[in-house]
Amino acid sequence: MLWLLGHGVQRSPSPAMQNAALRACGLQDWRYEIHDVAPAELGAALAEMRAGAARGANVTIPHKRAVAAACDELAGDARLTGAVNTVIVRDGRLVGDNTDALGLEGALRHQHAVPPPGFSAVVLGAGGAASAAVLAATRCGAAGVSVVARRAEAAAAVSGATAAVGWDTEAVAAALGQARDPLLVNATPAGLGDLPLDLDRLPPTCTVVDLRYRPRPVDLVAAARERGLPACDGLEMLLHQGMLSFERWTGLPAPWDAARAALDVAVSAP
Ligand code: NAP
Repeated sequence: MLWLLGHGVQRSPSPAMQNAALRACGLQDWRYEIHDVAPAELGAALAEMRAGAARGANVTIPHKRAVAAACDELAGDARLTGAVNTVIVRDGRLVGDNTDALGLEGALRHQHAVPPPGFSAVVLGAGGAASAAVLAATRCGAAGVSVVARRAEAAAAVSGATAAVGWDTEAVAAALGQARDPLLVNATPAGLGDLPLDLDRLPPTCTVVDLRYRPRPVDLVAAARERGLPACDGLEMLLHQGMLSFERWTGLPAPWDAARAALDVAVSAP
């Protein structure tokens, strides 16, 4: 058994994607299921994992940091970000990893959405996805990454960011206007109407990425494309981070085509 350990994530398309990948690899006795756990029950769920109830898990809102603190060992980007999105159970020990930044980097490269080296990135949000976006942008060659968040102290605390910008349309327009080939990433759950953005003031070379993937088309992505800007949503990132998790659990190469096809069907469902 593999779990998606989260709270209030019943509509996640990850089970469809991961179960298709397991089937494509002939892992008939494996299954990926949502395991909805309130924060107060997290310790009990992790104890069940240690006892063999699951071979591994994805971890999502609101448990990524709490699971990092509870793991027996951290690996990969979980060491850098202090957040875990993937747990591998080894001999009753919980190894926590994080595939979000590598997943976003892979998705940007796959979609040819990486600006030329030396670009500037502006990331909206200061949570787990924003930390991954800062790491991914840096690995893709960003010369600087500014974080924009509604809480200034949260923006200042994002590791790897080179500047913090206030949650203010003027300040964001100024940051993007001065940037070289900017990459703008929305790493909040907020929609276009709640973001401090005036799309008409984005430079024509700005690449726009929204980590949300539902409802499609994602409003920010659609509005950016209407203005002729390159833009993509978070679906490809979901696929990449999920397949990197799959490889960590199973030791097998990910069956990308089967997983992508299942994910497309799952997110198209009403
Ligand atoms: P998180 O850790 O809870 O952080 C959310 C961040 O967004 C926080 O900085 C929060 O600010 C801010 N925020 C929340 N609601 C807001 C609003 N209405 N207006 C302005 N700021 C707001 O969540 P996360 O894990 O980073 O996820 C963020 C988004 O990325 C979600 O939409 C999630 O679905 C998406 N995501 C996508 C993928 C993918 O594979 N495509 C992977 C991970 C995450 P406060 O601290 O002030 O609340």
